[in-house]
Amino acid sequence: MLKKDIYEEPTGPVPVVVSTDVLVIGGGPSGIAAAVAAARNGASVTLVERYAHLGGLAAGGMVLVLDDMNNGTEISVRGICAEMIKRMTEYGLCVTPPAEEWSSDQAVFEKWARWGLYDFHSHSKPQPICYASAFDPDAFKRVATEMVNEAGVNLRLHSWFSKSIVENNVVRGVVCETKAGRQALLGKIVIDATGDLDVAASAGADFAHGKFIVTTVFRLGGVDVERAEKFEYGNPEEFAALDREAKRIMGGSWERWWLKTPLPGIVWCNCPHMSGYDGLSVEDLTSADAKGRQKIAELVAFIRDKMPGFEEAFVVDVAPQLGVRQTRVLEGEYVVTKEDVIGRRHYADTVARGRDYYYPYRALLPKKIDQLLVAGRHYSATPSAQRISREIPPCMAMGEAAGTAAAVAILASASIRDVDVVEVQRRLRSQGADPGDLPAANATFQSDAAE
Ligand SMILES: Cc1cc2nc3c(=O)[nH]c(=O)nc-3n(C[C@H](O)[C@H](O)[C@H](O)COP(=O)(O)OP(=O)(O)OC[C@H]3O[C@@H](n4cnc5c(N)ncnc54)[C@H](O)[C@@H]3O)c2cc1C
Repeated sequence: MLKKDIYEEPTGPVPVVVSTDVLVIGGGPSGIAAAVAAARNGASVTLVERYAHLGGLAAGGMVLVLDDMNNGTEISVRGICAEMIKRMTEYGLCVTPPAEEWSSDQAVFEKWARWGLYDFHSHSKPQPICYASAFDPDAFKRVATEMVNEAGVNLRLHSWFSKSIVENNVVRGVVCETKAGRQALLGKIVIDATGDLDVAASAGADFAHGKFIVTTVFRLGGVDVERAEKFEYGNPEEFAALDREAKRIMGGSWERWWLKTPLPGIVWCNCPHMSGYDGLSVEDLTSADAKGRQKIAELVAFIRDKMPGFEEAFVVDVAPQLGVRQTRVLEGEYVVTKEDVIGRRHYADTVARGRDYYYPYRALLPKKIDQLLVAGRHYSATPSAQRISREIPPCMAMGEAAGTAAAVAILASASIRDVDVVEVQRRLRSQGADPGDLPAANATFQSDAAE
């Protein structure tokens, strides 16, 4: 019924199409890892994704560097993320600097800088080349699909989460919009991996509504990267002036706005950055996309005309998914702060690591709502903490922890709130992940392990 500016929706029966142990919503980096980990640990798992492929921002968002997975020369994110790197490398579609080149040597830096495979948090000059990987988005989709299928996960693409089914503060499942109409999917445990906290917010969990820069990521083809790099290092002043103008046209970018990819002549451009947009607003998403495309066109006209190596450059694709870094973040049982991340706070219930920071299990657990976990960029953190602890590998580590915890709870017939965290940590270690339960070899950190 239509009343002024409100349409009252008629509710009707919705068919239940799935009943499973673990229901993962969102097939991005954290959801893939959660689904694979839960299935490998013996739970029946259904993974739901709105788009036609897996990968989230690492695929449709064309975010093409995996970082924040080492602490100096120590590898801090392993497990399913490392497996994906290995498989993509075997397909010739992922590049990682060898360990003997993880250093601050100038020649090594010049070899790898345009791959973006350096520690961008470091203040030393040049920044150290480190364990980080440049990959192809379709390789990420392909490997994710293989791993999900091999683990026996029931994958349902083209299903747009619409609302949580909640009874007495316990999540029972979700309703999705599909081409076949509305469908209900039930799960004993639900993992929200939507990145925007869609499931937990709909279930009534507390959250903060954050905001950060958004980016219309794109790729250019026809680039003579050798000529471009020769010009950059051979004519630094001339290069700096042209690069400055390119950045002015874009209005916002990181220091290196184009990076090499495993595909010859194709570079990815993590730009233009734009601020003031809300990643949950249809109007904002629409206008950010249009504005980004306009800036890209202006930039390409400029570099084709002026920038050596880019004379024949053309746009291969603009990422189908706008680069939204932050929207809702959970206010869960523990809220990680910026001080925690920078101070490397360690927790008795640490279940995942990023670069040199840690994630407690409580940061995956909503307050009030039961049988629900979250994993990924919307984990329980202050907006300023989330900005510096949301890269793809740590999101995968959180996902692997959430999936493993869900399976442990199912096998023990325990509630997800009361899961045996020590058993989760033990399993994560035995399956090749690093839950961060042990102090890092080369880290000094604050510890609340005694609390
Ligand atoms: C422009 C940009 C540059 C970045 N650069 C880097 C970088 O260089 N290196 C790095 O490691 N990280 C980088 N990041 C961060 C990183 O990409 C994300 O934080 C990470 O991908 C988060 O993973 P996730 O699984 O939590 O969420 P996402 O990647 O957002 O995945 C969420 C998934 O859920 C699905 N979904 C969402 N809503 C629904 C719904 N209602 N129904 C069904 N499915 C749904 C989405 O389609 C998607 O597949 C960057 C991010 C951006 C935006």
